[in-house]
Amino acid sequence: MSDRIALVTGANKGIGFEIARALGTEHGMTVLVGARDEIRGKAAAEALGDFARPVRLDVTDPASVAALAAGIDRLDVLVNNAGVLLERGAPPSGTPLELLRDTFAVNVFGVVAVTNALLPVLRQAPAARIVNLGSGLGSLAFTTEPGHVYAQNPLLAYNASKTALNAITVSFANELRGTAIKVNTADPGYCATDLNFHSGPRTPAQGAVAAVRLATLPADGPTGGFFDDEGPVAW
Ligand code: NAP
Repeated sequence: MSDRIALVTGANKGIGFEIARALGTEHGMTVLVGARDEIRGKAAAEALGDFARPVRLDVTDPASVAALAAGIDRLDVLVNNAGVLLERGAPPSGTPLELLRDTFAVNVFGVVAVTNALLPVLRQAPAARIVNLGSGLGSLAFTTEPGHVYAQNPLLAYNASKTALNAITVSFANELRGTAIKVNTADPGYCATDLNFHSGPRTPAQGAVAAVRLATLPADGPTGGFFDDEGPVAW
């Protein structure tokens, strides 16, 4: 086992897979590859290499979260990457409540559940980092800016879940400010993944950059912020 251990949720594909790859290959970490499907998790860990270990984790299932936490006695980095975008073209006024609940179950409650379950081990690490995968679509600054491309998208549940996630990042960062733990939101930019039917112009590897930087921040790095790979993002 290498010195530092990271857990990336939803790491069997997309941006999470690339975050896992970078933490393992560029930063020498042992990476726990979170996947809700055991077979997909194993395949991803094998594809990643020796630094990767598959772990089963459905962030919406309290038993799955508890079982994972019970099996982890050291953790330096938690990347809350697992996420869903469930809208299929309905306007905000036509979005079923069930879709809102299912979205928040993963993107919001899942993050809080996993973070709380792993905080005891993260507190024991010398300088733990927590990174939440946010989105420019969760930025109220962008979605309220007249003419901004993000102000024209019809996503209710996804956008609201990522705005809520930013508030969660700030709340945890404030609670942990007196500790060595830093908590930030990473905005990967618009990347081609299954989440958006591969419509984004960026690669998943490019999308991983901001999260990896926040996962490896030095002691004088920021906490409670929202960053893409170029710097701070407007809330
Ligand atoms: P993706 O390719 O669809 O990957 C999403 C990952 O989350 C998959 O591994 C998926 O597992 C996992 N997941 C979904 N529900 C889960 C659950 N209940 N428990 C555990 N894992 C679960 O999407 P992506 O684009 O890489 O997205 C990664 C993160 O970046 C998300 O938080 C997303 O909101 C955020 N983001 C993406 C973009 C973009 O342009 N792609 C932009 C901004 C933010 P399965 O394979 O089992 O479904």
